[in-house]
Order: sequence, then structure tokens, then C-alpha cells
Amino acid sequence: MQEKKKDKKRGYFVHDQDDSWGIAVVATTVREAKRIGFAAGEFPGSEWIDIRARWERDANVTSLEIGILHDLREGLLRGFYDDIEGKCDACGSESELKRCNDKALCFECVEKEDEKLDHIYPWQHRDR
Ligand SMILES: [Zn+2]
Repeated sequence: MQEKKKDKKRGYFVHDQDDSWGIAVVATTVREAKRIGFAAGEFPGSEWIDIRARWERDANVTSLEIGILHDLREGLLRGFYDDIEGKCDACGSESELKRCNDKALCFECVEKEDEKLDHIYPWQHRDR
């Protein structure tokens, strides 16, 4: 069955324009993403007109339902966020985490992964 283009699910980063903090929302349009984030009461003190939804083109929404993705780590791994606060998958320290090879890693562990990659594939430095 072919999905209608306008019904296609997309990943959005919804936030108050004055704040870099935001939430991951799965929706089909910017307006729907805003509505879902706003209606959930995630932005107390924010006006509707201040809410922004940014389409994260690289976010993987496969098998996700329309709505808020509450799991920060999953949001990071799926590409909704550039970084999160949480527990590193490798060393377990509470830190700012980045996505690296489908893991949520602190900066030190990302560097270690990079060194490993350079060791395994010295001829191809991977961009991410
Ligand atoms: Zn770590």
C-alpha cells in the first residue's frame, strides 16, 4: 500500500523560540508537531506563537507513532537531537552525550571510538 505523501510521518524538534531546550515530536506537518507539543503542556509559560517546530530531515521515525517521543536516548539515536544529557552507554558517566555508531556516548568515549575507527579504517576518515 502506498503512503500518501501528505500523510508521511516526520520527525520534528519542537521548542520555544527563546529556548534551545525542546522535545522530539513525530507528526506529519509543522503545525501538527506544534499542536502536539503545545497541547501536551510541555511548554508552560510559552505562548502558541512562540512555539517553533523544526523538521529534522535525518530523524528516523520508522515504527514510531504520531506523538511525543519521550525517551531522550532514543531521540538522540534516531537523530531528533544533536546531544542530550544522560548516562554514557560505554563508561556510564553522567554527561553530555552524542550519537556515535548507534550508541549514546560522552565526548571522551566518542573520541575513543574515533581512534578505534582510525585504527580499523585508516584510509577512510568517517564524517558524521
Ligand atoms: Zn563515556
